[in-house]
Amino acid sequence: MDLVCLDLEGVLIPEIWIAFAEETGIASLRATTRDIPDYNELMQQRLRILDENGLTLPEIQRVIGGLSPLEGAAGFLQDLRKAYQVVILSDTFYEFAQPMMQQLAWPTLLCHRLRVSDDGRILDYVLRQQDPKRLAVEAFKGLNYRIFAAGDSYNDTTMLGSANTGFLFKAPDNVKAEFPQFKSTDDYAVLRTMIDEAARAG
Ligand SMILES: [Mg+2]
Repeated sequence: MDLVCLDLEGVLIPEIWIAFAEETGIASLRATTRDIPDYNELMQQRLRILDENGLTLPEIQRVIGGLSPLEGAAGFLQDLRKAYQVVILSDTFYEFAQPMMQQLAWPTLLCHRLRVSDDGRILDYVLRQQDPKRLAVEAFKGLNYRIFAAGDSYNDTTMLGSANTGFLFKAPDNVKAEFPQFKSTDDYAVLRTMIDEAARAG
C-alpha cells in the first residue's frame, strides 16, 4: 500500500507569508524556512511583526483568499489521488490554509493551528508536535504504508529522509546542494513519473 506525502507551500501553493508581505509591503515578513531554518525562531519573528503592525487574522485570510494554487498543482494532485492515497504535511496553520484547500478539492491536511483573540489578533501558534512531518511518515509506515514524499525546503528534509523515497520539488539551489541524496525536479509531470518509478521499483 502506497501513500504520498506532499509539502504544501512552495510545492502546491505559493509561500503564504511572501504573498502576505507583498500585499502589505512589509518586507521583513518575506522570510521563510528557506531563510531561517529554525521554525520557532521564524514564527516568533512573524508574530512580532504582525503585532507591531496591528495586522489581524481576518486581514491575512482576505489576502490568502485571493491566492491561487501554483500552475498545474490542482491537476497534478487530482490525478495523483486517483492512483495513491495522498496526505499534505505542512507547517502552516489550518486558519491560513483553508481558502487554498478549497481550490485543491480539500485534500487531507495535517498542520498546526493558531490561537486567536476574539478581535482577530493572533496571540500564539500551537504546534501539533515537534518534527511533525517526519513523525507523520513514521506513523504511516507503522500502518504498513510505503511512503513517497516531496517537499521544497529545510523543514521537509526529515520527512524526505524517513520516507521510502523522498524528492525535492521546486527547491532552491542551496537546499538541493545541501541534500544531494534526494532526486529533484521543478516539473509536476516529472515528479509524477519519479513517484511512479519508485513505486514500481518497490
Ligand atoms: Mg514548502
